[in-house]
Amino acid sequence: MGGGNSAGQAAVFLAEIASRVHVFVRGDGLTDSMSRYLIQRLSDSPVVDVRTRTRIEALNGQDWLEGIRCRAVDTGAEESFALRHLFLMTGADPHTDWLKGCVQLDDKAFVRTGADLRRDELEGRWPLARAPYLLETSIPGVFAVGDARSGSLKRVASAVGEGSICVQLVHRVLQEL
Ligand SMILES: Cc1cc2nc3c(=O)[nH]c(=O)nc-3n(C[C@H](O)[C@H](O)[C@H](O)COP(=O)(O)OP(=O)(O)OC[C@H]3O[C@@H](n4cnc5c(N)ncnc54)[C@H](O)[C@@H]3O)c2cc1C
Repeated sequence: MGGGNSAGQAAVFLAEIASRVHVFVRGDGLTDSMSRYLIQRLSDSPVVDVRTRTRIEALNGQDWLEGIRCRAVDTGAEESFALRHLFLMTGADPHTDWLKGCVQLDDKAFVRTGADLRRDELEGRWPLARAPYLLETSIPGVFAVGDARSGSLKRVASAVGEGSICVQLVHRVLQEL
């Protein structure tokens, strides 16, 4: 379930070991959300079946998953599939509940940093004459990197890169003390 690159990668991988792989997508298609090479590999695979504008409505089974019921968004038609495994690739929520009220979060609860910090919310709370550094949160000397950071690229290389940039910034903050 899902129409992004994670779903595409998973489906391509599963297509090598499964006899049938269904990809259910709520949107119109994959072109806006999935890389072209993945879309090509899905369409080249004889075992992959992509269904767009389809929602999963029910999971059925007793002790384990035995099937799912789907509904076509446009016609409302229902269809059931017997299957044992379901992978949800519908996006991720950051585990940042514990930071609420502590550092600034965006409307999806990712941590705002640097130029993405809302100036109106910083007013009266940011105690320093300088502006927040790149990757610095709304608390001076507290940094955020990787997937939990608002606007991050959600890639391993960028998370690692942000981490190494952060080391320099921490040194800079320590020199200010
Ligand atoms: C299915 C899938 C496929 C992907 N494929 C690719 C790919 O092909 N190429 C690519 O570049 N990227 C890919 N990514 C994205 C990549 O995994 C992330 O961008 C990267 O792992 C981000 O690193 P991170 O350190 O920010 O977060 P994470 O790797 O998520 O690490 C965060 C860590 O913090 C821990 N944690 C959470 N809350 C707390 C807490 N309160 N206290 C202590 N620890 C905590 C978590 O347990 C976790 O270990 C993929 C992601 C997924 C889900």
